[in-house]
Formats: sequence, C-alpha cells, structure tokens
Amino acid sequence: MAEHISLAIIGGGPAGLAAAVAAYDSGIRDMIVFERDNELGGILNQCIHNGFGLHTFKEELTGPEYAARFIKQVKERGINCRTGSMVLSISPDREITAVSRERGLQIIQADAVILAMGCRERPRGALNIPGMRPQGIYTAGTAQKLVNCEGMMPGKEVVILGSGDIGLIMARRMTLEGAHVKAVAELMPYSGGLKRNIVQCLDDYDIPLLLSHTVVDIKGKRKLEGVTIAQVDNTGTPIPGTEQYYECDTLLLSCGLIPENELSLAAGITINSATNGPVVDERLTTSTEGIFACGNVLHVHDLVDFVSEEAARAGRNAADYIKEKGVRKNTPHIVGFTAGSGVRYTVPCTVDTANTDEDIHLRFRVRNVYKGCTIKVRSGDNVIVSKKKRITVPSEMEDIIIKPEMLTGVEDDITVSIEEGSI
Ligand SMILES: Cc1cc2nc3c(=O)[nH]c(=O)nc-3n(C[C@H](O)[C@H](O)[C@H](O)COP(=O)(O)OP(=O)(O)OC[C@H]3O[C@@H](n4cnc5c(N)ncnc54)[C@H](O)[C@@H]3O)c2cc1C
Repeated sequence: MAEHISLAIIGGGPAGLAAAVAAYDSGIRDMIVFERDNELGGILNQCIHNGFGLHTFKEELTGPEYAARFIKQVKERGINCRTGSMVLSISPDREITAVSRERGLQIIQADAVILAMGCRERPRGALNIPGMRPQGIYTAGTAQKLVNCEGMMPGKEVVILGSGDIGLIMARRMTLEGAHVKAVAELMPYSGGLKRNIVQCLDDYDIPLLLSHTVVDIKGKRKLEGVTIAQVDNTGTPIPGTEQYYECDTLLLSCGLIPENELSLAAGITINSATNGPVVDERLTTSTEGIFACGNVLHVHDLVDFVSEEAARAGRNAADYIKEKGVRKNTPHIVGFTAGSGVRYTVPCTVDTANTDEDIHLRFRVRNVYKGCTIKVRSGDNVIVSKKKRITVPSEMEDIIIKPEMLTGVEDDITVSIEEGSI
C-alpha cells in the first residue's frame, strides 16, 4: 500500500530546502524532502568560494554556509528529510517511487509535489569535439567536486572550454591549488559567466579569456597531451589558419547546464524547449495538476538567492493548493507570456489574470549583449511595465516584477522584448 503524504519535495538543495520551509510556515506538516545524496545542501556543498547570499542575508557566504542556514531552518521545524533516497519516478497522478539503502523501495502518494532536482552539466559527448577520448577531460563541476570535496587534483596544466560561472570559478580554484591555467576558450563573442567572476577569477590571475574561440582538436591516446584552439567566425565555424596548440594534461568543460528533467518527462509534464525545464504558470504549477517546479530544474539560475526566493513561492503555492484543493476564487482567465525580440524565454509562461493577488516575478534571459536598451512588457499597444538598462547580457537573468493591478483589463498575450538604442 502506498504511504500517503500532503507534500513531496524532490531534491534537498537550496530550492528544495526553501520550498520546504515556506510550505511548513504555510501550515503543511505532512511532507517529505527526498534527497539522493547523504547530505542536504545540493550543489552548494562543493562551492566553497564566497559570493552566496548577498541578496538574502546581505552577507557574502560560502556555498556550504548558505546551505547551512536553510538546513538549520528545516531542522528547527522538524521537517522530514529522507537523505540517501533517490526518486526513480513520479506518475502523472503524483505517485512517487523512491529507493534507499535503509527503506528499500518506497511508494508514496502525494497530494502535491515540488520538483527541485537542480541541473546537470553538458558533457563532452554532447559537445561534438573532434579528437581522441583520452583521460584528463572533466566537466568543471566534476573537477570542483574532486578538488573541494575529495582533495584530489585532476592535473597541473589546464585549458578550460566554456566561460560559464563554474568554469571561471574553477580557473581560479585550480590556480590557487598550484595548477597553471593556460586559457579559457569561449565560443561566443561574450562570456557565459557573471562579470564579477571574470574579474575575480580570470583578470586577477592573468588568465586569458579567448572569446570567439573553441577547441577543434584533442591530442593524446590514453592521457590528454594537448588541445588545439581556433578562432570562430560569427556562425561559430572555426577560421582556418587561426589554430593554436596548447600542451595540457587537463581540459575542463563549462559549456552549459541542463535541468534534470527525466522525472518531469515521466510525469507527463510539458517541457519548455528554450529552458529544458517545465512550462509553468505564475504559481509555478507545471502542466501536470498538483506538481510545481522551482530552482535550477525549472530554469538555470546564476544566483542562489533567486533560487531560494522562487522556491519559497513554490512552497507557499503548493501549500495553498493542498488546502484549497486547487479551487480558484474566480473563473480563470489565462494569458500567455511570449519571448519577443531579443528575449530567449520567459518564466512563467502563462498567468491567470483573474486569480492573481501576488506580485509576478517575470524572469528571462536575453539573446545577446544589448547596451542602452529598454525592456518592454506589453500586451497589444498597452505597455504594462518598462525598465531601462545600461547593459543586458545573456549570462545574467533578468527579473521584472508585475503587480496584480497592472494586469487589470489585459486580454491579449503579454510580450517581453528588448528595444535597442532607446537610452
Ligand atoms: C560551480 C557553481 C558555482 C556557483 N556560484 C554561485 C555564486 O557564486 N553565487 C550564487 O549565488 N550562486 C552560485 N551558483 C548557483 C547556485 O549554486 C545554484 O543556482 C543552486 O545551487 C541551485 O539550487 P537547486 O536546489 O535548484 O539545485 P541543486 O543545488 O543542484 O540541488 C538539487 C538537489 O536535488 C537532488 N536530486 C536530483 N535528482 C534527485 C532525485 N531523483 N531524487 C532525489 N534527489 C535528487 C540533488 O542530489 C541535489 O542535491 C553556483 C553554481 C555552481 C554549480
């Protein structure tokens, strides 16, 4: 017989923890947080650098310190956390199958589910890099875990492909541990990481950032001996004659993160092709009744503070759903959000304008670097909100707040776009 609970939270990282605390504070007691690792805290446990929590706690914390603050809140409330428990599947009617050493196979029926499984790194196999398959090629996150948690150095002469935040942070980390980071190559003409990480992790250590460059060959049969880097044109095609060989024993890959969406797919949830995470409405409800999503499983965030804020909303909304059985006060009126010119995606994808009484955090990423531009949120000719920006970059998530009163009378889809040269 399936065990019955009100709320199941899948993942005990910052998203799962913040969702659990908020659901508890909204009156839900009967819940379980499932975490496959033996510790709570998620990816933050291996991020020993500082820079976390500036928004939430107005302090610069390390990853484990930030996680510890939420773990404390979870423990103080006596929230039931099953660590070492891996969720294997979720059915569309919210039956969860999990497995752990202590409990074996567990079947749990939940009234509501919050997905908070985080994301994973894009591996070499997904990157189509030509060349051999020698030892010495790691994703940046794997190298981070080896160095920070296992006390092992992957190598001494390092090249990094991709300038996402994890790659930038690992460039500094490997340097501090005595390695020589020769270059960070980035396919795009701009970095995939935060500006502060470029300054603090590359510029401060004289590590060159090669924009519009990529690895075109890998040399070494059993062990990595070197990589060839070439410049690319504006279509990403290597330019003949620009190849340069770098002798190295380690290649770190920091080429993007992908939401862990296997469980979401099994639950019949519609996936947004731009984010690879679930399509959600303003309450962070997925297309499957009673299942909510937040954090990096929904869309990749650059700051954990936004993850915690979003997850707390998912926790409150799931609690409301459990208490109100999903019944809405007014007849729903659903309006879509559309990514317009210069915008890659929006989260959420829809809003029920007839039943919204909380501010909506409309989050999105831009397609390119835009200087002196205006973000315009409009429905037909009606500009709902606009925000001037000195610069917007794809690596930094944008957050626009839409107040419920701004949606009065809005009938048509809402488009978010970038207007260039408007300031
Ligand atoms: C290298 C790196 C550096 C970063 N630097 C910064 C920084 O300087 N400042 C900042 O603010 N943010 C930073 N971030 C971002 C921040 O750490 C993330 O945004 C945040 O950790 C995402 O939280 P999450 O809970 O969604 O995912 P995660 O932290 O990944 O947690 C997801 C959890 O779900 C669990 N899980 C997954 N699948 C299952 C399953 N089937 N069953 C049970 N459990 C499951 C996982 O084990 C994991 O514990 C950094 C991230 C990385 C990777």
